[in-house]
Amino acid sequence: KLTTLRALGVLMCLGLAGLASSCTQSSKKPTLIGFSIDDMRLERWARDRDFFDAAATKLGAKVLVQSANGSEERQVAQIENMISRGVDVLVIVPQNSKVLGNVIREAHRNHVKVVSYDRLILNADVDAYISFDNLKVGEMQAQGVVNVKPKGNYFLLGGAPTDNNAKILRQGQMQVLQPLIDKGDIKIVGDQWVPDWNPTRALGIVEDALTANANNIDAIVASNDAIAGGAVQALAAQRLAGKVAVSGQDADLAGVKRVVEGTQTMTVYKPLDQLATQAAKLAVDLARGEKPAYNSHYDNGEKSVDSVLLQPVALTRDNVDKVITDGFYTHAQVYGN
Ligand code: BGC
Repeated sequence: KLTTLRALGVLMCLGLAGLASSCTQSSKKPTLIGFSIDDMRLERWARDRDFFDAAATKLGAKVLVQSANGSEERQVAQIENMISRGVDVLVIVPQNSKVLGNVIREAHRNHVKVVSYDRLILNADVDAYISFDNLKVGEMQAQGVVNVKPKGNYFLLGGAPTDNNAKILRQGQMQVLQPLIDKGDIKIVGDQWVPDWNPTRALGIVEDALTANANNIDAIVASNDAIAGGAVQALAAQRLAGKVAVSGQDADLAGVKRVVEGTQTMTVYKPLDQLATQAAKLAVDLARGEKPAYNSHYDNGEKSVDSVLLQPVALTRDNVDKVITDGFYTHAQVYGN
């Protein structure tokens, strides 16, 4: 139906070629972007939304934003709704990387381009992917804890099993850890994935791990700050916070504060304004039929997806102030004065 409407518009425009105004009017219609976010209740994704909206507006585009609040069914319904509202391009942070094949086919039937944002959508015909180099993030996390605990018992606290990033992070972590495991310096005493990256689930998992290992854990390779928060809470209850090395990711305000106070060893800062700004440009280029610039490719099980990968930054107590000099937070937010 939508396709027919659009085709009609073009025909009318062609037929009325002499009356330039009606054609100009339709070509001036701002690009409409549908931004579908897994869960905007989380600090990082609300910031992505704000940066994205600002960048798209500057490019003369309009953005419809929806948060699925952690539900894969709701996300599919919201995407269908955006297609029927006539978006030109969809930018999607998938809740479940593996369930969007059908709705993406529907998008393409309606000539809507699809960009996979931060997390790769698997087994689907997505037009482009933009993210930080997640393999590098994983390496930074493992290296960050190895730097302070080169030997000992390690617990691996992975992200959501439905998130492709969680697996890539683990690959990056293992590139650093495997040689040390082979050498006998490091022993993996547990390895778990946290559903929905949920901090309360992480807390429970780490409590159990501490009990099972009689508190004999030297390092926790946590894949983001949300679950690192749960881990540190479990450690604090055993008076181990600050003694056990813990990694993270996102430079969440709480994560940055833990790095400052010494209960979290490191976090990975990903300048979200860069991601959102480049994603907005990518989406607008695709919608307007211009060729975006890519610097990588990712196999998503269906095709080799044109990708843009940005560089993350590892932060420890020594360089954590970069979040302030970069304007990501104010001094008062981090230090309270
Ligand atoms: C993102 C992380 C984020 C996590 C939980 C991942 O896909 O790359 O930055 O912490 O999802 O939302």
